[in-house]
Amino acid sequence: MKTEVKLRIKSAFVKQLKEGYPLIDKEAIINREAISAEGTIINLYDEKNHFIAKGYYGIQNKGCGWVISRKEDEIIDNFFFGQKMNLAIQQRKKFFNDETTTAFRVFNGEGDGIGGLTIDYFDDYYLINWYSVGIYTFKEQIITELQKVAHIKGIYQKKRFDEAGKYIDEDDFVWGTEPEFPLVVKENGVNFAVYLNEGAMVGIFLDQREVRKLIRDQYASGRTVLNTFSYTGAFSVFAALGGAAQTTSVDLANRSLSKTAEQFHINGIDAKSQNIIVEDVFKYFKYAVKKELKFDMVILDPPSFARSKKFTFSASKDYKNLLKEAIAITEKEGIIVASTNCSSFNKSKFKEFIDTAFKEMHKKYQILEEFALPEDFKTLKVFKEGDYLKVVFIKKLDT
Ligand code: SAH
Repeated sequence: MKTEVKLRIKSAFVKQLKEGYPLIDKEAIINREAISAEGTIINLYDEKNHFIAKGYYGIQNKGCGWVISRKEDEIIDNFFFGQKMNLAIQQRKKFFNDETTTAFRVFNGEGDGIGGLTIDYFDDYYLINWYSVGIYTFKEQIITELQKVAHIKGIYQKKRFDEAGKYIDEDDFVWGTEPEFPLVVKENGVNFAVYLNEGAMVGIFLDQREVRKLIRDQYASGRTVLNTFSYTGAFSVFAALGGAAQTTSVDLANRSLSKTAEQFHINGIDAKSQNIIVEDVFKYFKYAVKKELKFDMVILDPPSFARSKKFTFSASKDYKNLLKEAIAITEKEGIIVASTNCSSFNKSKFKEFIDTAFKEMHKKYQILEEFALPEDFKTLKVFKEGDYLKVVFIKKLDT
């Protein structure tokens, strides 16, 4: 069994922890010298020596551990992890029973009771993301208990805890049998090729499922669609299947060309009938303005931070300008899908960026749809940072 250490919490942090906030701030602990090894179970007490919560010690950029229990006498053992895994699986019954969707999140960190850990399901293959050395010390228990409650063909992992909190590149296969790659999963009936053992990203971002579906079902028909930061072209494929007149996918990464072509191909669409462009998005915007290209729908889903040869993009600083570039090449009455996964600003700030961008372009707009994380990405009300996804469908009005 793990050793447990008693930690005292500064009064300024006690209230939020008592109210259910799950992240343990580095600054919150009075006697930090009491702990050293990640994975240590820590019991948090207020200055009057009253128990607050129980957690584990694990360094992530956000903090130094997560609360995982509110009971002083709870033992963090196999039974504990088994209960958490079981509950998470039970709560995704609807997804397991849906044959048209075979890729979704099974365990979403603090939303399912254990921060620093996520588990995704890809048609009986499970992908575990470990976000600290601390949570990784529980690997054996977590995998053993997951295996008891889930039908698993194979397990892969991503260790996302090198010094900069980044992915450690190694063989990610952990257990079971390996599928032949690409592993083709389904999302609302659409095929998707995923590669579970090719670096940090697997080919699809599962949190955009509802957005992709809506684009296909209600927005794409007859429209020309520009998909920027397109990665493997997921939005483009859904748009094409929804009857888009034409899709144009733009991404800087060389691999995006073959990966996007593959996604079209496995859905019976000739990739040659679509535009797939390997280029810096900001260069493409300039090109489009020069050539007077306009689109009926422009999708913006940039990373929170990216550096290319010529440009550095930081969502919190540059999203407004990105929107202005998009507004300039959107047709009258066209749609801009503005998305961000940046957790350093909230939805109202995001809407301010949108408002300012349109004002500075002297254009009017109307918000048509708004999305946050889907149900399988369970979040806690008290932990707003965990609810990072913001997607807004905006109509550019004809004035
Ligand atoms: N929208 C995608 C996910 C985007 S991931 C989806 O729905 O699946 C971020 C992508 O942005 C990466 O593929 C990366 O190569 C690309 N990228 C980052 N900076 C870029 C830039 N300046 N121009 C074009 N693509 C960029």
